[in-house]
Amino acid sequence: MSVLVVGSVALDTVETPAGKREEILGGSATYFSCACSYFTPVNLVAVVGEDFSPDDRRLLEERDVDLAGLQVSPGKTFRWGGSYRGDMNEARTDFTDLNVFEDFHPRIPPSYRESEYVFLANIEPGLQLEVLAQIEKPRLVVGDTMNLWIDLKPERVREVVSHLDLFIFNDAEARQLTGEVSLKKAAGEILKLGPKGVVIKKGEHGAILFSREEIFCAPALPMDRIVDPTGAGDSFAGGLVGYLAREGKTDFVSLRRAVIYGSVMASFNVEDFSLNRLRNLSRDDIEKRYQRFQNLTSF
Ligand code: AMP
Repeated sequence: MSVLVVGSVALDTVETPAGKREEILGGSATYFSCACSYFTPVNLVAVVGEDFSPDDRRLLEERDVDLAGLQVSPGKTFRWGGSYRGDMNEARTDFTDLNVFEDFHPRIPPSYRESEYVFLANIEPGLQLEVLAQIEKPRLVVGDTMNLWIDLKPERVREVVSHLDLFIFNDAEARQLTGEVSLKKAAGEILKLGPKGVVIKKGEHGAILFSREEIFCAPALPMDRIVDPTGAGDSFAGGLVGYLAREGKTDFVSLRRAVIYGSVMASFNVEDFSLNRLRNLSRDDIEKRYQRFQNLTSF
């Protein structure tokens, strides 16, 4: 079952303790698509400028990501600069150049409108609502956001959340959006808005999945070295939604496994800058790492 993703395709300038890279391929929809493509076909809707390079486009094509919904607009591609100092769990935004994003309105191609699995990657919440208005009732709608939107447009973010089946965000965003210190209480507040499930990511400390009845705690893989955490959240979502779409299931047991596949994809992503690690995986790499997660948590 294919997955529709709408989000950003970006050129990122990233600085981590492992080094600095300028104008490397990034963006919420890019990381999501690449991770998800190991599980199921992906249809991407986003915008880039005329400066978007054929090599970057090829990377997505090599992962068989359908680019019929990738609009090319006059102007420059969206750019984001971020750095990590000490705490690798939280990026500090150094700059955001919206460029072609400024006038972007997602157009969902007719062939994507009946997608059963939809991921609203991190973009301005008003644009996420525009996507929802264009699609038929999907089986599963999953969404993400970031601190910037919770800060600027908390009511819009809540409106988006009320339309989701599953909301994925991190611990700092959970506290920021709900005002609750306890993550369990924060998840409870989100569940009241409408979603059937909430995933709260805690960076190198794993993730917690909440439904109204159940809770599942997933670890993150202890790593010797994190090169670049950028896109970890989006690759996590890519593995999670990709697995659910491949299996055609959304029950809690499948969601638990999906959270582990998400953690697997995020663990690969942080091993290198941009999509350098994520683009070259085999099915065997993924299954072996899934097994490592199982060994890590079975007792
Ligand atoms: P994350 O998974 O949270 O690390 O997402 C990182 C990606 O989000 C980067 O590759 C950025 O290009 C992208 N990003 C950062 N700020 C924004 C924004 N305001 N809107 C859309 N995408 C963004």
